[in-house]
Amino acid sequence: MSNLDSLIQDLVIANRILAKEDVVDAYGHVSVRHPDKPSHFFIARSLAPDLVGPEDIVELDLDGQPVGDDGRQLYLERFIHAAILAARPDVMAVVHAHAEDTLPFGIAAATKLRPVIHSGSFIGSEVPVWDIAERFGDTNLLVTNLEQGRDLAKCMGHGSVALMRGHGFASAARSIIEVVRLSVYLPRNARVQMNAMRMGGKPKPLSKGEIAARAAGYRPNMPETWRAWEYWANRAGCGDKIGTPHDHSPKG
Ligand SMILES: [Zn+2]
Repeated sequence: MSNLDSLIQDLVIANRILAKEDVVDAYGHVSVRHPDKPSHFFIARSLAPDLVGPEDIVELDLDGQPVGDDGRQLYLERFIHAAILAARPDVMAVVHAHAEDTLPFGIAAATKLRPVIHSGSFIGSEVPVWDIAERFGDTNLLVTNLEQGRDLAKCMGHGSVALMRGHGFASAARSIIEVVRLSVYLPRNARVQMNAMRMGGKPKPLSKGEIAARAAGYRPNMPETWRAWEYWANRAGCGDKIGTPHDHSPKG
């Protein structure tokens, strides 16, 4: 299998994992940058993530337009991916989803989503909230053009997550595995924080030092990371398609 085929296979697996782990449902999507053409990226055509196969992956440019004459129906919100990948050369993969547990933190302005569990450390010390109404007034809340996507990317800044008021979140990372992991643990972290608040206490978030220690101990291809990818892929019914850790080691 070529490197590109195996990347597309990973993107398919990521779609299935995010569906199985309830991060996405009929809606939501994941993309990955083209490894040889940084101004292009891959994403599924307009289809529920759990149904995505390799034949459903389309190649788009950073304006969110299809490369070549691919006339298939595309996700309305593909501009989220285009704008974040354009703004962030360090980002290789992006997720957008509507996971319910994240939504309260997008509408309760006084309560910030913070990392409160060790597996949530990668969301950053405080997650910003993007409110589409601030610049665009009354909309249907969807990110349907590049200008809105750019405004969202600006809110994310150099971070890894932005919540979207009344809508969902966008997350960004250096690889598919990393963005999947981030997006699986983000709603779980939100749920734990919310449960702690229900108990009446003030949740104690991870300190800056703890966040830094977690980041320092992380390498994209470490066995612990692979263990999660293997576990999730098997749960999603595609454990036979993940290849080996060696296929995912950095190239060049
Ligand atoms: Zn959306």
